[in-house]
Amino acid sequence: MLIWTICVVSIITFCLSNSILNVSTHASSIIDLKQGSNTTGNNSTPSFCNCVVFRFDDIQDYYHRNAQLAIMDEFIQKNQSVSLGLIMHVFGNDSEVKDKVKEGFAKGLFELDLHGWDHINYSQLPEKTQEEFLSAADIKMRSIFGKGSEIFIPPYNSFNNTTLAVLSDLKIKVLSSDKFEDSMAYFNATKSGNQSDIYGIYHLPQTIEFNDWYKDEMPKIPVNDILGNTTKNILKYGYAVLTLHPQYFSNVNETTGQETLDKEKMKDLTFVIDQLTASHIKIVPFLKVVSCGTTEVGNEDKRETNK
Ligand SMILES: [Zn+2]
Repeated sequence: MLIWTICVVSIITFCLSNSILNVSTHASSIIDLKQGSNTTGNNSTPSFCNCVVFRFDDIQDYYHRNAQLAIMDEFIQKNQSVSLGLIMHVFGNDSEVKDKVKEGFAKGLFELDLHGWDHINYSQLPEKTQEEFLSAADIKMRSIFGKGSEIFIPPYNSFNNTTLAVLSDLKIKVLSSDKFEDSMAYFNATKSGNQSDIYGIYHLPQTIEFNDWYKDEMPKIPVNDILGNTTKNILKYGYAVLTLHPQYFSNVNETTGQETLDKEKMKDLTFVIDQLTASHIKIVPFLKVVSCGTTEVGNEDKRETNK
C-alpha cells in the first residue's frame, strides 16, 4: 500500500513539474507561442495538448521506398511519433516497407491510419462500394497488425456523408482531411466535451503540408512557414497536423527511373522536428490529440483501444 502511494505521488509530482516546465520554457522557445490570439479565453498557456501530428500519407509497397524508409527511420531514431496513412490494397508484399512499419508500430511510435483500400476518391463511389472497400481495408489491417485502425485519411482528402456513415460502422473515430474538403466543425483540443460530428467522428484536418502542389510539381514550402503555421494552429486548436508525402523526398532519374532520397529535403524534415521539440511542442498521434480535448464519457473507450 505504501509503495502504491509513493508511486502515485511520484507520478503526480512528475506530471506537475513537467507542465510547469512547459509553461516556463515557453518564453525562451524558438517558436514564439505568444503571438496571435489566445482562444482559450484566459491567460494560461494556449493549450493543454500543445502538440503536432506528423501525418505521413501514401504508405504502400515499392513506392519511393528510399524516402518511405528514411522518413520512418527518422522518427524511430528520434523516438518520435508519426501517423502513417496506409493504402491497404497495395500494402503488405514489400517486406522491407512492411517490416519497417511493424518495427515502428512495435515500438509504439507509429500510429496506423487507413488511407483507403485503393487510392481513389471515395466521395464519388456509391454507398455499397465504399462499404466494401473500407471494410476490406479494415480487415487487411487487422490481419497484418492484429488490430484495426480508428483513423481514416481520405485519399485526395475527399469524402462525403456516406463515407462518414460507413466509417462510423467500422468504429472509426478520427477523420483527417484538409480545410478545403472538410467544411464540418473541427476538433478543438483546448476545449473539453464531446466534439464529434453526428456520426461520432472527430475532424482533425491537416493544417499544412511539407510541400505544395502545382501542376506536376511539388514546390517547397519554407520551413519557417511550416513552423509558423504549426504555431498558429496550436494557438487556435491546441494542435497542428503536418502532412508528408514520400514522393516529395524522392528524386527520380528521368532516364533510368531510379529513385534516390533527397537529402536536402530530409535535412528540412530533421530541422522542423528539432525545432518543434526544442520548443516543447509534443509530437503525438491523432488519438492522443483527441484524448486531450475530451474529458467526458467515451474518452476511456479510446484509451483502451489505443493499443
Ligand atoms: Zn494520398
